[in-house]
Amino acid sequence: MTTALQTPFDVAAIRRDFPILGRQVNGSPLIFLDSAASSQMPQVVIDRLVQYQTHEHANVHRGVHTLSQEATTAYEGVRRKVRELIGAKEDREIVFTRGTTEAINLVAHGYGRSFLGAGDEIILSALEHHANIVPWQMLCEDKGCVIRVIPMDDRGVLDMDAYRELLNERTKFVSVTHVSNALGTVNPVGEIIRLAHERGVPVLVDGAQAAPHMRVNVQELDADFYTFSGHKMCGPTGIGILYGKAELLEKMKPWQGGGDMILSVSFEKTTYNAIPHKFEAGTPPIAAAIALGAAIDYLQAIGLDAIAAYEHELLAYATERVGAIPGVTIIGTAPEKAAVLSFVIDGVHPHDIGTILDQEGIAVRAGHHCAQPVMKRMGVPATARASFAFYNTRAEVDALVAGISTVKEIFG
Ligand code: PMP
Repeated sequence: MTTALQTPFDVAAIRRDFPILGRQVNGSPLIFLDSAASSQMPQVVIDRLVQYQTHEHANVHRGVHTLSQEATTAYEGVRRKVRELIGAKEDREIVFTRGTTEAINLVAHGYGRSFLGAGDEIILSALEHHANIVPWQMLCEDKGCVIRVIPMDDRGVLDMDAYRELLNERTKFVSVTHVSNALGTVNPVGEIIRLAHERGVPVLVDGAQAAPHMRVNVQELDADFYTFSGHKMCGPTGIGILYGKAELLEKMKPWQGGGDMILSVSFEKTTYNAIPHKFEAGTPPIAAAIALGAAIDYLQAIGLDAIAAYEHELLAYATERVGAIPGVTIIGTAPEKAAVLSFVIDGVHPHDIGTILDQEGIAVRAGHHCAQPVMKRMGVPATARASFAFYNTRAEVDALVAGISTVKEIFG
């Protein structure tokens, strides 16, 4: 690894770790401002994938042979790395999933179906990604529970007084995002959890947009469940994490049945494996998990606090520059934000913004960002969204600003 440990934050060295950042798109150097959708992988993570596939591939947990044992050791070693990354108490509280979406579905199924019933209330926030809405709606359709929503103001800040009022004796679960993927708002999840716990209500935190950008400690937060995706934190697709407190995971039912999640099977009766294996039916994404371990090492070598500070400064710069362009409105102006700048331009559809910027090699996202209720609340059908990672630079923000000027000229 070439980067890291260099102070001050050496973004030029960091960029050299990411081969894709050297490529051209439509004749211009790639300016990748879509890390909230999926971040890029440094060479060390790519190398780890290739190393595993080339020299180490075997199924886990099943073989006495050397390769299988090595694969198992590597795979289980990542569970420990994840535990350390998020400050969980025990390795067995870390469940590998395909991503945040699968992790939330697992809880809605494994906890919701057993412990929620007709008339019970689930509190979500107005800032949720569809992944933290739809699984709960599916549960409500089947079990007759009801979703209540914490409203937000015009800046994209949750109304905590309204949350306090929503909490009542029927509240049986709270599920909120840590950082909004559409607006960038950082929610006061510690306080949300504290208030829910006063009533003995468990809380799931969707950390998909938080884990890549800040130090997270699930024990300090006292989160009951915490979810995130590998591909948003320099790892590969197909791997994600569900953290759950051991006592909750233990009382939950498995949601998929099959190999690896059992202790014994007969046609009369099956007994389930211990946590976390009870929730990992079938062959897991072994290569992706092992590469996620390399991504975690990489992020930790740079330091999540250093990453957060650098990105904070970059977002402030981008907010100032983009916000100063006449005809541009920033959507989402919460005082606490991370890594996301959503905006609209008067008279231009966000898809046109995205298409024109792409012609200059600038990758931004345009659309509803899988958060249609957020768009509705903010009174826009869609936004253009620039999202940042620690490998982005001020020069790239300047290029975005120039690109926005081009968009305005074309539509002027
Ligand atoms: N929650 C949030 C806040 C997200 O940003 C995303 C991804 N855009 C998800 C959940 C879903 O993550 P995945 O697609 O990796 O399952």
